[in-house]
This record gives sequence, structure tokens and C-alpha cells, in this order.
Amino acid sequence: MKEKIVKPNQLALDLQKEINRKLKQIDKINREIAEKREELSKVCIHDEHSRVNKYIPGSYLDVCVYITEEVCDICGEVLIHTETKGGYG
Ligand SMILES: [Zn+2]
Repeated sequence: MKEKIVKPNQLALDLQKEINRKLKQIDKINREIAEKREELSKVCIHDEHSRVNKYIPGSYLDVCVYITEEVCDICGEVLIHTETKGGYG
């Protein structure tokens, strides 16, 4: 019985290479989209903010700390955080 000879088909190989290249591009773009979505989820887009004051009392060894934060009313993101240290408690 005569064996079937399979010749490398250059066109098929080229097409497969091109497809693999495109698939890699899709992977890369999907990764970029995922990164941007992650970044977007951390960005506060709301206009409703409140100023919150906190106070951590000091002790014999620690000074007290006055904290002022600007916090989003919708998502709770802390937009500004400032600390001022006071005296020992
Ligand atoms: Zn927000």
C-alpha cells in the first residue's frame, strides 16, 4: 500500500501563525482591559463628599492624633487624609 505523503502546507502554516499572533493580541488587550477595570473600580466618581474628623487619644508613650478625612458619601473612598499629632495623653 502506498503511503500518503503529507507535504507541509506553507499557506496553512502561515495562517496558523497569523491566528496565533492575533490570539496573543487578544490576550494582551484582555489583560489591559482587566487592569483598566480594576483601576476604574478604585476611582471615586461621585460628587457627594463629607469631612470626617477622628481623634486617637494619646497615652504616656504615644502622642494623640487628630485625623481629618474627606470621604465619599456613596462609595466610602477616602479622598484626603491628613494627620496632626498632638501632645502625650
Ligand atoms: Zn465615591
